[in-house]
Amino acid sequence: MALTNAQYDALQRRYEERRLLHAEILRDRKEEVFEKIPEYARIDRQISAESMQYFNSRISGGSVSKDDLHQKIASLTQKKADLLKEAGFPSDYLEPIYDCPDCKDTGYIEDRQCHCFRQAAIDLLYYQTHLRDIFQQENFENFSLDYYSKDKIDPATKESSHENAKYILTYAHNFVNNFESDGGNIFLYGDTGMGKTYLSNCIAGALLSRGYSVIYVTAFELVDIFEKKMKDRSEADQFEFDHLFDADLLIIDDLGTEFVNSFTKSNLFEVINERLLHQKSTLISSNLSIREIKELYTERIASRIGDRYKVLRLFGDDIRAKKNM
Ligand SMILES: [Zn+2]
Repeated sequence: MALTNAQYDALQRRYEERRLLHAEILRDRKEEVFEKIPEYARIDRQISAESMQYFNSRISGGSVSKDDLHQKIASLTQKKADLLKEAGFPSDYLEPIYDCPDCKDTGYIEDRQCHCFRQAAIDLLYYQTHLRDIFQQENFENFSLDYYSKDKIDPATKESSHENAKYILTYAHNFVNNFESDGGNIFLYGDTGMGKTYLSNCIAGALLSRGYSVIYVTAFELVDIFEKKMKDRSEADQFEFDHLFDADLLIIDDLGTEFVNSFTKSNLFEVINERLLHQKSTLISSNLSIREIKELYTERIASRIGDRYKVLRLFGDDIRAKKNM
C-alpha cells in the first residue's frame, strides 16, 4: 500500500502502543484478581507447578502421563473460571484484549495486511478518523422514522413520506447485510434536510464495523482529490486517487454542490465507471434527480447511475427544522 514511510511508521507505532496498553491493562487486572481471590492465585501457581513437575518427570523418565496432566490442568482451569465468576468478574476478564481479534492487533494476518490496517491507512489518508465519532451518533440504532410524516403523500406514488422512508431504511439494512454477496450501488436523492447524509453514515458505520473498507468523501473533497492528483502527483496524492477505485464502498456525499467543469466530469465518470467494471459498490447522495444530474454532468454519468444504481428518493419535511423544535 502506497503510504509514505512516515505514515506507515506512524500506523505501526499506533498498533504497538495499543498492544502495550492492552498488556498493561491485563497485568493490572491480574493483580487485582490475585489480590481479591487468593485462592485463584494459589491455583494459578499450582498449574505452573504441575506443568513443571510433568516436564521434570519426562526428563528423569518418571511416570506422570500427559493425559493426567491435561486432566488436572483442565479441572484447575475450570476452578479458576468458577472463582472468577463467583467474585463477580466477567468471564473474559483475564483473556487477552484485542481491538481487532482477527489480527490480534498486529495489523497483519500471516503476511497480508488485515482489514483494520487497510482501513486505518484509508482513515489516515482521507483524514476521516473523525467519522468514527459521527458514527457513534448517526447509526441504524438511532435512525428514527418518526421524522417522516405519515400525512405527507407523494402524489405520483400515493405513498407517505413515512412509508417511503421505511422502505428505504429496510433497503439500506439489506444492502449492509447482503453486502458480501450482492454488493450493489445506491443513488440516494432528495431535498436538503431529508436525512440522506444520516442514512449514508448509518451504512458506512455498519460496513466499517464489519471490516469493509469505506471511503467517505463529499463531492467537494472528491474534486480536491482529482485536482491534487493532477497538480502535485506526489505518492500520497496518487494513492489517495487510486484508492477511490478499490475501497469496498465509496460514498460520495452531496453530489452537485461542487464546482463542475469538463475536468471534474471526466474524472467523476472514470471513478463511477471503473468501480462498476470492478464490481465495487458506490453510494452517491445528491439533491439532484437523475434528470438534473444529466443536465449538470453528462448523459454518460446519468445513465450509468440510472441503469446500475438503485435510485432511492427521500422526501418529507425538513428534519433539521423538526429536530430544532
Ligand atoms: Zn486487524
